[in-house]
Order: sequence, then structure tokens, then C-alpha cells
Amino acid sequence: MTQLGDAWRAARPAVAGIHLDSAACSRQSNAVIDAAAQHARHEAEVGGYIAAAAAEPVLAAGRAAIATLTAMRADDVVFTTGSNHALDLLLGAWPGPRTVACIPGEFGPNLAIMAAHGFDVRMLPVDLDGRVLVVEAAANLQADPPGLVHLTGIASHRGVAQPVAALVELCRTLDIPLILDAAQALGQLDCAVGADVVYSSSRKWMAGPRGVGFLAATPEFAGRLVRRLPPADWDVPVGVLQSFEHHEHNCAARVGFSLAVGEFLATGPDAVRARLAQLAKTARTTLDRTAGWRTCEPVDEPTAITTFIPPEGVDPARIRQWLIDNRGIVTTAAEVARAPFELAGPVLRISPHVDATDTDLEAFGVALDEATRSVG
Ligand SMILES: *Cc1c(COP(=O)(O)O)cnc(C)c1O
Repeated sequence: MTQLGDAWRAARPAVAGIHLDSAACSRQSNAVIDAAAQHARHEAEVGGYIAAAAAEPVLAAGRAAIATLTAMRADDVVFTTGSNHALDLLLGAWPGPRTVACIPGEFGPNLAIMAAHGFDVRMLPVDLDGRVLVVEAAANLQADPPGLVHLTGIASHRGVAQPVAALVELCRTLDIPLILDAAQALGQLDCAVGADVVYSSSRKWMAGPRGVGFLAATPEFAGRLVRRLPPADWDVPVGVLQSFEHHEHNCAARVGFSLAVGEFLATGPDAVRARLAQLAKTARTTLDRTAGWRTCEPVDEPTAITTFIPPEGVDPARIRQWLIDNRGIVTTAAEVARAPFELAGPVLRISPHVDATDTDLEAFGVALDEATRSVG
């Protein structure tokens, strides 16, 4: 256990079992839970809209904290209900060519949103780990520039860090807007690298409440968008980013998220990233080949996610359920639909936050071995 891990753990309710699932949903701190509950109480006391107005300074601090993590301005951050919602809003307002370049490991639900908006998707060249080959991509993008480049900084199904800064730099040179899906990357990687758009979720590495996220866009990029709702030709004083603001939202969740991002900044993004990478290195080093499961990531990959390819005939979804039912260990079974162009079969994912310990990882290894024998 580390000092950082101790503090993170002490700030939260006691864990029931072992939580290795922050890529799905982290454990909120007591302060975050209390802030959201306090807001709900305030709504009952003074009325929901009065309470929302009173919460504005907290939300402004949240937008400022998000801006710090994304190299945006606080005024250019809007809250959404999550990452998918942010992408949907953004693509719905894009007036340019409906062509987008992304990685073969692109998140399945993102591909669905791109398709729903009539986008033609083309793939950027990647190496065997699924990492963008920036030099090859340069030739590719220059020869036939797409309207947008969409990069998922770290995928949901594989803990590989994309060269975000290098691709941002390339796209700036080529004058192609780059949109960063930071649903996983925020917290694991530096996302303050100059992307035109960054969006992410609260509940993952920021450890905020569920059902909230954000979209941040530079003024230059936002200036190219066209308002969809209300229709652009209606003469109303509503900017595009402003039009993304869902009027009826769960304000308590936004308050909790704002506090969570503040706590993350106070903990220290560099220290968190270092601890996450250290835990993942331990996991990949000690757990590879457990009961025939193979880890996918390079051992030193600076990410928190480790995924395991099952031995022949073993179903990750059944193993996940066994681990919950019998050992209180929470993991994720990632199905092929998460990355339909990259995953050959389902994988089991662990994603410990900084409060996990080597003992937790050891216990997971023992349980994975038992589960594989029992479920088969
Ligand atoms: C979780 C996730 C999303 C979707 O986030 P929501 O907040 O559930 O909409 C998008 N992209 C990646 C890479 C994710 O891991």
C-alpha cells in the first residue's frame, strides 16, 4: 500500500470485496457522495431551480478543473450525461464532410454514433498492439484528408496508450480537427495536449457519480459548428456549446462530478498516473499465464487497464460472474461489440484504481485460477 493509495482508500466507504473495475465505474469518495446528497436536500428546501443557481460556483469550479485537465478554457466546457452523449451532440452539429478517420480499436458504441450521423469511417494505420503509426498516418491523412480525426486515447477493451500528443500535432499541421475520446484516457494519460475537442465521463477514473460527463471544444472549433437545437435559422441568442447544455439535468450529479475532479487535481494527476501504471505493471508481470489466461498489454504500458485473453473454451462473462458471486471481486467481461474491428473474442479486464494493493492483485490471481477450474 502506498501513501497515495491509503489516502484514496480512507476517503471512501469501505469496499465490499475487491474492486478492480474503475474503467467501468470507480468508487466515489465520501465527500463526493455527501455533496450530491446535500444538493438533493437543498433542492427539497429551496426548490430545484433555486438550488441549481446556488450551486453555480461549484459547477464553475468543476468546469475550471476539467479545463485544467484538458487544456481548454472553463467557458468552453459543457456538462453532458456522458461520453457517448458528448459525441452524439458534437457530430450532430458538424457541418463539414461526414468522413472520419479513427483506429481499428475504436469503441463500438462510438462507431454506432458515427454511423447514425451518416459518417463514413476509415481506419488509421496501427501496429500490432493497435497503436496509431503516426508517420504512416501522416501520409494517409495528407493524401485523402477526412473531415475529422477521432482518437480514443485509451480503449475500453485494451490498455494501450495512443500517441495522443503526436497525433494532435500532426492533425494541427494538416489542419484536420482532432476529437479526443478521453472516457478512459482522462486520469490515465495527459489529456492537456491541444486536441480540438475532448470529452469524457465522470464515473470512470475521475471517480465521480454516474450519468454525467463533459464536452470541451476550442472556440475555433466550436465556431465551425452549426447549432441543431433550436434550429440554426431561428433568431435566438444561443451559442452552439450553450445549445449542448441539457436544460433538464441531474444537477446533484454535476455537483458531485465537479468535486471529484477537484479531488483528482488535489491528489495530483502525475502521482495518480504513476501509481496506476505501477499497479498495472505488477498485474501484467505476475498474472500473465494464470490458469492459461494471457495478458494483452506490453508490461510497461503507462496505463491502468490490463486485459486477459481466455484459454480455449473459457467464457469471460461466466468468469466475471463467478468472481463476483464467490469472491466479491469486480471485473469486466469485454465483449467483441466493444471493439468490433479489433477484438477477436471477449476478454476479461481488470482496472484497479490507486487504492488497490499487490495483495488484491494476488487474491485476484488465485480467484481467477479457481474460477477457471470451476467454470471451465
Ligand atoms: C465508457 C466509454 C465510453 C462511453 O462513456 P459513457 O459515459 O458511458 O457514454 C466511450 N468511450 C470509451 C473509450 C469508453 O470506455
